[in-house]
Amino acid sequence: MISYPVSFVALPIGNREDITRRALAVLEEADCICCEDTRNTGRLLAHYGISKPLLSLHEHNERERSEEIATRAASGEKFAVVTDAGMPGVSDPGYRLVRALQEHEVEYTVLPGPCALVTALVGSGLPSDSFFFGGFLPVKAGKRRNALEQALRASHTSIFYESPYRIAATLAQLAELRPEAPVCVARELTKLHERYHRGSALELATLFASQKFKGEMVLLIGGSNALASAGRLCYTAEHDAGSTT
Ligand code: SAM
Repeated sequence: MISYPVSFVALPIGNREDITRRALAVLEEADCICCEDTRNTGRLLAHYGISKPLLSLHEHNERERSEEIATRAASGEKFAVVTDAGMPGVSDPGYRLVRALQEHEVEYTVLPGPCALVTALVGSGLPSDSFFFGGFLPVKAGKRRNALEQALRASHTSIFYESPYRIAATLAQLAELRPEAPVCVARELTKLHERYHRGSALELATLFASQKFKGEMVLLIGGSNALASAGRLCYTAEHDAGSTT
């Protein structure tokens, strides 16, 4: 196996079995593992029987830590970089470190693996050949409305990470803007209660107003290509009829 000074390693987004053999080998081989929350990652690594020195790397120290990691990696230490879940750098720390490594001319690699937005996109049934990922939906009302309006005007699928505390209000706003827009909320992916709630904006707004849904979620909004290829405006809600949520 080719070994790099720094390897970005995707971790599971809910199911601990979703880790590649190469990811485990790289974690095992690292001198130090950089992670957001040392307690979280320590627990996950213990599940895989891996015990390594951990170094915190999170949104508040990424700038300084990146310099430190680049310098240490340049002098021979091997680092693996992970985040709490999924792909580092995707709505998570990673980008600044990659830039620092490029500036210091330190070689790095990225091990592909779980990522909530890609999993949600494929499972949603919305067109996946062309899409926009907007990260977390803005919290401020004006910016949020702009983001939703832009998604509704788009020709491609738009994907956002969204908090369970705001999803009902967001769906209500979407339903107000365009009730027939095709929408999917992908929830608790890879976990026991994984669900793809699919329907028109109005159907999902009604569903989420009637029930409180917990857990991590991804919001997907179909663009004009979804309307054309689906041939109708609404999808039936819930693909798994047996679901109680
Ligand atoms: N780096 C991660 C990735 O590759 O997807 C994303 C990290 S971001 C801080 C966390 C957000 O990702 C959550 O708030 C949620 O929107 C989404 N997410 C992560 N895991 C998820 C899951 N199992 N099911 C649904 N959404 C998930």
